[in-house]
Amino acid sequence: MTNLLDVDINYTAVISAINQRSGGGLVEFIAVSKSQSVEKIKILLEKGHRSFAENRVEEAVEKWTSLKKEYPDVRLHFIGGIQTKKIKQIVSFFDVIQSIDRLSVAERIASAIEATNKKIECLIQINIGKEDQKSGVKLDELSVLYHKLEERLPGSLSGFMCIPPNNEPPSIFFKEMVRLKDIYKVRNLSMGMSGDYLVALENGSTMLRVGSLIFGQRNSSRN
Ligand SMILES: *Cc1c(COP(=O)(O)O)cnc(C)c1O
Repeated sequence: MTNLLDVDINYTAVISAINQRSGGGLVEFIAVSKSQSVEKIKILLEKGHRSFAENRVEEAVEKWTSLKKEYPDVRLHFIGGIQTKKIKQIVSFFDVIQSIDRLSVAERIASAIEATNKKIECLIQINIGKEDQKSGVKLDELSVLYHKLEERLPGSLSGFMCIPPNNEPPSIFFKEMVRLKDIYKVRNLSMGMSGDYLVALENGSTMLRVGSLIFGQRNSSRN
């Protein structure tokens, strides 16, 4: 019935694969805990893991309000679509926002951050595969968004995030992300999920976002 042991086994295997491949480089391994239970999350917390990501605000608040009290050094990443009306809550609850993808959102996040004394790390999500159905800023709008964030929140923009297209080899897109990282001189590239995290690592990822490989299939069809 319980598959808590699986979480443990997969976590250990994934971490050791990453350590072997990263060659000692600094890579943040983010456990994507969306649609996963507090019980499973606690297994990782008890092992000392502190970096997690969620994609829905209500769910994150429900699961993490008490967990954050118990484990105050947790670092929570927001990786979901950003609704304007949720921005204040995202800023107050999360430590890193990875999915900034348009000017209006950037402006509102900047204002919300300025209204608090909190330091938030920001990443721009890039629609690297130019897919209409996916979120992320298009390449021809990246420059304006980048400069807006640099102007409004100097020092807060740490890098770029992407989700490459499903049915194509991801390495082409990861290499394109590296090119953009070099042009804009940002520190981080958030790329690599359960299916392609080792390829992402070989192609210069500094933030891996792995969910189902550690925790098992998600309960919800909502993603
Ligand atoms: C769900 C999700 C992940 C993790 O996906 P897995 O395939 O379960 O590893 C990573 N990044 C984003 C933005 C996601 O929504």
